[in-house]
Amino acid sequence: NNSITMALAGNPNAGKTTLFNRLTGARQHVGNYPGITVAHKEGHFTQDDQKVTLTDLPGTYSLTAYSVEEIVTRDFLTTQKPDVVINIVDASNIERNLYLTTQFLEMGVPLIIALNMIDVAKDRGIEIQSQKLAELLGVTVVPIVARSGEGTEELIRQAINVAKSDKIWTSRDISYGDDLDEVLMEIITLINESSFLVNNYNPRFTGIKYLEHDDQMLTKGQEADPLLAKKLEQTVGSISDHLLKTMDVYPEAIIADHRYGFIKSIVRQGVMTHAFDIDRLY
Ligand code: GDP
Ligand code: MG
Repeated sequence: NNSITMALAGNPNAGKTTLFNRLTGARQHVGNYPGITVAHKEGHFTQDDQKVTLTDLPGTYSLTAYSVEEIVTRDFLTTQKPDVVINIVDASNIERNLYLTTQFLEMGVPLIIALNMIDVAKDRGIEIQSQKLAELLGVTVVPIVARSGEGTEELIRQAINVAKSDKIWTSRDISYGDDLDEVLMEIITLINESSFLVNNYNPRFTGIKYLEHDDQMLTKGQEADPLLAKKLEQTVGSISDHLLKTMDVYPEAIIADHRYGFIKSIVRQGVMTHAFDIDRLY
């Protein structure tokens, strides 16, 4: 009974439930996460003699602690540690969808991208070079049409490969500019010097969340190691004050800007091509 565990994650309307239902059929059960009204959907299937347990996570645009869906998603990933996370990306809306992807990369979870809705993208004259995207992100990308089932068998074959691989996933270093990169290094050093690992998050992800003033992370930090938490808060506090005074900006805004910059730089390296050249229309 060596069942592999997979989690489906992505923006609302990216096609999670469509894929989940296609894969699990009637072999699914729905409950609630403890204490909240967010549905916990789990199902089972077998492919290539491999048993799989699949969880359909709530749709999210980000992994901050601003909504219950975001908290459920990241808590699930850190406490249940699925063997692979299938990040469903809407190919017709790729830049917006990759914002969440950057955060999975930063969490360092075992990841594969299901590039969904390629039929919709095609109708809009958009073609995604999935191989190029895979190279640039450093994760496998499989184009699918969840509604028709096109590509889904290959997706699961590749997801099983990722789940069984002994690759060690670490946090992807996205640069947030000199100021924040330096502070992140300080935070990572502080965390590595202690026994403190908030909620199983890697130090870089914890540092980013501190910079984003993530309430849940701050609370967990204080519970885990009050002394270190204080140091982290002071470090973040002084850079926040500095950025506010000199640039009138909060760290979270800088972080969001750099995430979008990272995505744009990837998409512009030949990942997204148009059937016609939009620029020439103007
Ligand atoms: P979720 O919010 O991520 O669970 O998304 P859903 O599975 O509910 O899908 C949102 C909508 O997109 C539904 O109307 C689906 O039928 C539709 N949909 C899902 N996958 C595809 C696809 O590959 N192609 C097309 N054209 N529509 C899709
Ligand atoms: Mg859904």
